[in-house]
Amino acid sequence: MNFLIAGVIAPIAYFLIRYIVKSFVMSLIASAKKNSNVKNMVQCEKCKMFLDEDELFEKNGKLLCRKTECNK
Ligand SMILES: [Zn+2]
Repeated sequence: MNFLIAGVIAPIAYFLIRYIVKSFVMSLIASAKKNSNVKNMVQCEKCKMFLDEDELFEKNGKLLCRKTECNK
């Protein structure tokens, strides 16, 4: 009897796990793609260099990069 149950449940569990793993991997890939596209290129107002958004910061209402000549 246990053998019969295992024979029915095992394939169902196999497909269920496969489905869960597949959808998990797909969402992982989707979020990775989203993250790589999300980075905005922003221009430093002093040296006019284009950098990632998180490499610039605001100072006196101006977006500046971390270079020392731009932070004087
Ligand atoms: Zn700069």
